Amino acid sequence: MPALRAVAPGSDPASPLSILMVASEAVPYAKTGGLADVVGALPGALARLGHHVTLVMPRYRDVGPVGTARHHLDLDLGGRRFKVGLVEVDVAERYRVVFLDCDALYDREGVYGHAGTDHSDNAVRYGVLCRAACEYGRQLEVPPSVVHAHDWQAALVPVLLRTRYATDPAWRGVPVVLTIHNLAYQGLFPPDTMRALDLPPSLFSIEGIEYWNQVSFLKGGINFADAITTVSQTYARQILTPAHGEGFDGILTQRRDRLSGIVNGIDSAVWDPDIDPWLPAPYSAADVGPKREVKRAVLDRFGLPSDDVALTRPVVGMVSRMVDQKGLDLIFEARTELMALPVSWVILGTGDPRYEAMWRALALAHPERVGTRIGFDEPLAHLIEGGSDLFLMPSRFEPCGLNQMYSMRYGTVPVVRATGGLADTVRDVQSTTGPGTGFVFEGYTASAMLAALHAALATFDDRPRWAAIQHAGMTQDFSWTASAAAYVQEYRNAIERRQRVGAGRGE
Ligand code: ADP
Repeated sequence: MPALRAVAPGSDPASPLSILMVASEAVPYAKTGGLADVVGALPGALARLGHHVTLVMPRYRDVGPVGTARHHLDLDLGGRRFKVGLVEVDVAERYRVVFLDCDALYDREGVYGHAGTDHSDNAVRYGVLCRAACEYGRQLEVPPSVVHAHDWQAALVPVLLRTRYATDPAWRGVPVVLTIHNLAYQGLFPPDTMRALDLPPSLFSIEGIEYWNQVSFLKGGINFADAITTVSQTYARQILTPAHGEGFDGILTQRRDRLSGIVNGIDSAVWDPDIDPWLPAPYSAADVGPKREVKRAVLDRFGLPSDDVALTRPVVGMVSRMVDQKGLDLIFEARTELMALPVSWVILGTGDPRYEAMWRALALAHPERVGTRIGFDEPLAHLIEGGSDLFLMPSRFEPCGLNQMYSMRYGTVPVVRATGGLADTVRDVQSTTGPGTGFVFEGYTASAMLAALHAALATFDDRPRWAAIQHAGMTQDFSWTASAAAYVQEYRNAIERRQRVGAGRGE
């Protein structure tokens, strides 16, 4: 097994860290949501700060050819043997991806499921991800300084390191940071998962991974991680309350001294209107003029009128999972009033069949003003961000949210509900003293959403004011640099804490 890198682990504030990251998706290899954007960008940002990152993730069918496995792990789980190939790919200086090659688990349609149904063996698929990451890490010549696990799919890593591998010298003193990207996904499985994953029965307890007589990967991760982060400060506070805790508020409150919020950055090499290959005309804060060409292009793409009259009408964009979390129930409730607004709509998403059907029906009923694409289409997402005037995100809850940041970067003014990361990243035009960057509403009601849209449309006609809002959004720094530095601090704190535990000075 090759050395991760010859970097001494430690908490010396100047020393480069070697970070073993574990996640189920990452841009550009596999994406179902914001998790992939984050895991795709954070390693590069850490590497630019001088740290070394190795990301372990499954090689799904759609990852395509990435090379051949030169090392293998034989993992025995629940009476089955899984032969897992390790395909190591150096993607950038100090950033390596290790793909887990195991056709029986990962070579199939869909990341987590197919045709609306979760894969029935997800517990085993992600149990193997976690076991393989632990085995890979322990066989390295130089152990990692810290492990960073993302979401429920990687949340067994802290559990395994503190149980199965608790006395393993390779893992001594190595802390685990768990990041929760969305508390609503908890990795819940039936009790016999304990056997399928060879987890000791003693773990099936309230202090372990049992949750209402089920196994919860995420609960285990929360209980055993050295530090827990989530993706905005507001969401970090919200998940301690019954309203946003998804049943885990009590568990998280017990560990609140370990919980913090670090807002996501955006990958400014991928989301920049000046260099975006999916836009027909580049533009920037210095010259927003060509955005009009992008507006025309997005209207054309959706088969909507794009003449000069149509171009004066604001375009409202949405790129979203079509689920209640994203406020689709509010949109459903307000659909008649929304259709009465003097705007065009360009909509991209997949999700709840009820909401997909709603948007399809609205497009049929208003063929001149509503364009709907049901599906997942990354280039089209870029075109919508570039070509829209307004971007609507009326989320019920939003751990961080990325689209509002993409929108601001693209001079597309977001209309958002004040929750989670939306509250932390959008400055309300109507209530801030400095330059606002979007329109923010508080209550989760159709009328509050409509009022914010009305305010935005009234402002849209005030061209200089609108240009100032666009400019304020486009010139904000949403790069990963600051957030990556905050993660480094989190890693160092965790290393120090674990070293104290090792020295017998307790938790
Ligand atoms: P979440 O992870 O909760 O879905 P985020 O706003 O954090 O929400 O991130 C969603 C990411 O997925 C964004 O990059 C967004 O552009 C992208 N996305 C969501 N739905 C689609 C879609 N149908 N087609 C293309 N990209 C999509």
